[in-house]
Amino acid sequence: MRKKIVAGNWKMNNDQRETAELIAALKSIRFSTKTRVMIAPAFTQLQQAVALTEGTRLEVLAQNMNAATNGAFTGEISAPMLNSIGIQNVILGHSERRAYYNETDDSLKSKVDTALLHDMEVVFCFGEELNERKSAIHFDVVKRQLEKALFHLDSGQWSNIILAYEPVWAIGTGETATPDQAQEIHAYVRDLIASKYESSLANSISILYGGSVKPANAAAIFSQNDVDGGLIGGAALQAEDFKAIIQSA
Ligand code: PEP
Repeated sequence: MRKKIVAGNWKMNNDQRETAELIAALKSIRFSTKTRVMIAPAFTQLQQAVALTEGTRLEVLAQNMNAATNGAFTGEISAPMLNSIGIQNVILGHSERRAYYNETDDSLKSKVDTALLHDMEVVFCFGEELNERKSAIHFDVVKRQLEKALFHLDSGQWSNIILAYEPVWAIGTGETATPDQAQEIHAYVRDLIASKYESSLANSISILYGGSVKPANAAAIFSQNDVDGGLIGGAALQAEDFKAIIQSA
């Protein structure tokens, strides 16, 4: 049985004081044992977040990492560095990183391989841009993103992969995919995995939806058969909103 997952991507928000305040508020949230809740603070706050969430069911994940394990990559952070402070999960392929930092299907494939080599769980983001949906090539785009970055993995490696469908036109825009639009892509992705691997594997993969999820729309989206929770941006910065979203899962 797939667990529901609600992951908050804090992006470049929350300094030390704000991190402490938000985590203090999140710690009082009660949620089902069938749900996993994750938060992704900026690199500088990861160690603090790990310490503050110790003994709770809140999981801390990184927003990014480098494909190399060490070396002359000024300003970068490696998987072993993350492991050394207790981080075992990482978001890869977020559309902001694809758009502003030139991350490509090929570079993401390398990052995925490195993360898995270091026993990390990957929340892999994919999704089409607005012009791609308008041109009705969104299924092709999603297929390409998954095939190029993930379909070289063997079945066993998929146990450390969580997918997050994030249509770029819905991220931070206030425009959300309808529950039907989310379900349509999630079901398509599950079928794609089943045809490349097998149905039991496809059915075991959590596929999250991300893109302007708010307390008012979370339940309708999360109730879709193939939607296993959400990757939340803006609403994850407000404890009350994040709580309502978690409790909708
Ligand atoms: C995101 O950036 O992953 C995201 C889903 O953002 P928002 O919820 O703000 O659209």
